[in-house]
Amino acid sequence: TSIPHVTLNNGAEIPQLGFGVWQVPDAEAAPAVRTAIEAGYRSVDTAAIYENEAGTGKAIAEAGVARDELFVTTKLWNSGTRDWSGAQGRDAVRRAFDTSLDLLGLEYLDLYLIHWPRPMHDSFLNIWQAFEELLADGRVKSVGVSNFGTAQLETLLKESSVVPVLNQVELHPHFPQHELRAFHAEHGIATEAWSPLGQGKGLLSEPALVKVAAKHGRTVAQVVLRWHLQSGVIAIPKSVTPSRIRENLDVAGFELDAEDMAAIAAVETGERLGPDPQGFDWN
Ligand code: NAD
Repeated sequence: TSIPHVTLNNGAEIPQLGFGVWQVPDAEAAPAVRTAIEAGYRSVDTAAIYENEAGTGKAIAEAGVARDELFVTTKLWNSGTRDWSGAQGRDAVRRAFDTSLDLLGLEYLDLYLIHWPRPMHDSFLNIWQAFEELLADGRVKSVGVSNFGTAQLETLLKESSVVPVLNQVELHPHFPQHELRAFHAEHGIATEAWSPLGQGKGLLSEPALVKVAAKHGRTVAQVVLRWHLQSGVIAIPKSVTPSRIRENLDVAGFELDAEDMAAIAAVETGERLGPDPQGFDWN
């Protein structure tokens, strides 16, 4: 397929479209990821909390695609220890990383993310220092963050020499994250969109988007993914339906013009589907 790549600030390359597996049970993850890889996806996004790293790893092992052609991301969950501070916290990060790598059955990971910043605990900088150690070990090629705001990114930029390669955040035409994207661009941090299709809810029946889709003879999901690509955003749509898995990757053969991009921009509501990361503290 002709999915473009984004070059990250450490020189690594990530496909601009990847396959997300949130809410996919472990037993279904293997066939879904297998279908995705066979359809041409070369990037997979999982997380410890999704409890499907084993199924994801099984598909990767069985797909017969060379390891260096795949880009595998997983994420450190909030819990795992009561105390993420000091050396004890860094040890806990290392154990969580080892467990994820083991479940995935991989010798190295392409990208490890801090799943949520939990700023009320003041622990993300210590966790980031453990990520720096993992990077130095070579078992992870790139490190990044998820759900970070500009305040937390400022802290990392000030206190660490390792700049996150990307920040994975909720982003779709209803919630386009203008300010955060501008901050990322200024500091060489790539933007990765979670729930890029707005979780398949109201976004996909927006009349303005239905109109753009009809104009191009495409589905609304394809138009939204095309919008992500043309906006310079990395997107990781999820589906367990084989026809949709393929549909979501088939977005290279058309181009949105300025009028289409403006029509899509106009559906912005500023409303999130997920929690506000600044107050989010699940365990
Ligand atoms: P999404 O926006 O990718 O929407 C997925 C849903 O949209 C599907 O379950 C299905 O109902 C529908 N859908 C998919 N393709 C479709 C199509 N072609 N036509 C019609 N409907 C379609 O939502 P998501 O799963 O929340 O997000 C994608 C990925 O982002 C997740 O799987 C996960 O990997 C990641 N994520 C990360 C975080 C985080 O905190 N870092 C949070 C949420 C999601």
